[in-house]
Amino acid sequence: MDCVLCSEVQAVVAAGDHYWEPLPDCVNALDVFGYFGDDLDCVYLKKCPACKTYFAEYHADHFESGGAVSQRIEKIDAEKALEIIKKVMTKVEGAEWLKSKYSLAKLQKELRSLEKS
Ligand SMILES: [Zn+2]
Repeated sequence: MDCVLCSEVQAVVAAGDHYWEPLPDCVNALDVFGYFGDDLDCVYLKKCPACKTYFAEYHADHFESGGAVSQRIEKIDAEKALEIIKKVMTKVEGAEWLKSKYSLAKLQKELRSLEKS
């Protein structure tokens, strides 16, 4: 069944291991929990608010090509989401500016629901 919110994102995911610069706007429909990684390479945890599908969005910075950012998105299962959310929490907990951007309470709530599943 096609999700009204993320079917376009699912189509991008289905396009495979393709790097977009940048990803189509449809990815903005997803809920963002935060990210982990460094400035060069980071992974965002996202979730569709309608069908609760988790996505991992990878951003890679290429200095050699003048600082262009390549992005890729993939669909992930709860196990992978749990793995990523723990890293995201460590990252957000360690940086004040991230705490104002991404909610730790929201991350904790999501972590608990993932651990139960
Ligand atoms: Zn959806």
